Amino acid sequence: CGIVGYVGAQSALDVVIAGLKRLEYRGYDSAGVAVLSDGELVSAKKAGKLVNLEKELVAQPLPAGSTGLGHTRWATHGGPTDVNAHPHLDNSGRVAVVHNGIIENFAALRAELAERGHRLESETDTEVVAHLLAERFEASRGVGGAAGAGLAEAMRQVCRRLEGAFTLVAVHADEPDVVVGARRNSPLVVGVGEGENFLASDVAAFIAHTRSAIELGQDQVVELRRDGVSVTGFDGSPASVRAYHVDWDASA
Ligand code: GLU
Repeated sequence: CGIVGYVGAQSALDVVIAGLKRLEYRGYDSAGVAVLSDGELVSAKKAGKLVNLEKELVAQPLPAGSTGLGHTRWATHGGPTDVNAHPHLDNSGRVAVVHNGIIENFAALRAELAERGHRLESETDTEVVAHLLAERFEASRGVGGAAGAGLAEAMRQVCRRLEGAFTLVAVHADEPDVVVGARRNSPLVVGVGEGENFLASDVAAFIAHTRSAIELGQDQVVELRRDGVSVTGFDGSPASVRAYHVDWDASA
């Protein structure tokens, strides 16, 4: 329902939670966050209001990190439980993904992943994406685990296999300063900052930080780093983007 991603110099957790609060008006049944901290992925998720997640984060604090993402969920596939809340991770715990929308062909993808030995833990249509991203990321690695084509390329490959409507935002522990997003039939906006960049399902999530925005087009993937934003089509073709100024009143 609500999505926020961040890479920069601030605490990703603080930016993401504040952004999710800005999106609370949309309604949701559970919430979660993931942060990259010292080469590890850490996450927390909780059914119910954001305040439940915040209490959990006080009881069990996450280590600090400056790359992260968060989600408020409006359940479509699987009940509003802690396990079904986003982010969803792959079995290695190195990839986290959040998703708005519905992946229509998730059942076939789930069966295929189970056959290849993946263990899926939730009832959501979303979880398949975390597993597919991890597979594509690994498949592109060079000899001796050398850097491969990266998370953005993995996302392009995975999106070409998905049917339905989706906004996806993902991070990988092996790319600690990168956040990747993708969209089809569901909104995703980039907030362009200085030494930091934002992703959100709605500009309201980041206008406290920047009013320079890029609306992602249909079937596009964006790779966010602290100092740059690059956008391509699902097929890898470079896309031209135009930043615009968000001029409506933040307090409205
Ligand atoms: N279909 C996904 C789920 O049920 C995402 C729902 C949403 O848009 O929040 O988990």
